[in-house]
Amino acid sequence: MNALERKIMEQGVVVGKDILKVDMFLNHQIDVELIRQMGEDFYAYFRNKPINKVLTVEASGIAIACFTALKFGVPAVFAKKGYHKNVGSNVYSAEVFSFTKGISYRITVMKDYLTKDDHVLFVDDFLANGAAAEGIMQIISQAGATLEGIGIAIEKGFQPGGEKLRERGIDLYSLAIVDQMEEGKITLREHEQ
Ligand code: 5GP
Repeated sequence: MNALERKIMEQGVVVGKDILKVDMFLNHQIDVELIRQMGEDFYAYFRNKPINKVLTVEASGIAIACFTALKFGVPAVFAKKGYHKNVGSNVYSAEVFSFTKGISYRITVMKDYLTKDDHVLFVDDFLANGAAAEGIMQIISQAGATLEGIGIAIEKGFQPGGEKLRERGIDLYSLAIVDQMEEGKITLREHEQ
């Protein structure tokens, strides 16, 4: 069991049938050492790819993106939520349906910070239905950039996002995969040897 998996088992709280609350170390209070380790793990997995930018969505992905970008020695860029009039047409944008909030929102990235020359690693805290990843891929494609891979802290394996992305041949690496959350009990996927 890696450090993130241990934390999930010790401090994760199941809300309803399919939401995992990890406010103690990821989504409100941040265990900085744990996130630093995530950056190392993503670097170890994706280090042979020509990544020159780490992309995420605000807010919870930012810390993960920063530690990952630090290891690669490249900038971290976060997509902003909501469309602001003052950015005009100088943005790439996509609509994302939020599984946790039950509403759609727009994510935007300024054209200045993503170009056709970029080789992008997308990182995020959770993968559920894959809507955020889908929105980010639309933005990457609008920019003519290349998606090199996706690094996720916690994938919920009982929701379809992971399978959809892997079926499309995307290099997806999740540090922890939760396979079940029945009656508040968390079951993690065993690692392949
Ligand atoms: P998706 O877009 O893959 O459906 O959902 C991923 C996004 O929704 C993540 O960026 C994350 O913020 C949020 N999310 C999805 N499931 C959970 C969950 O169980 N717990 C928390 N804290 N966030 C989640």
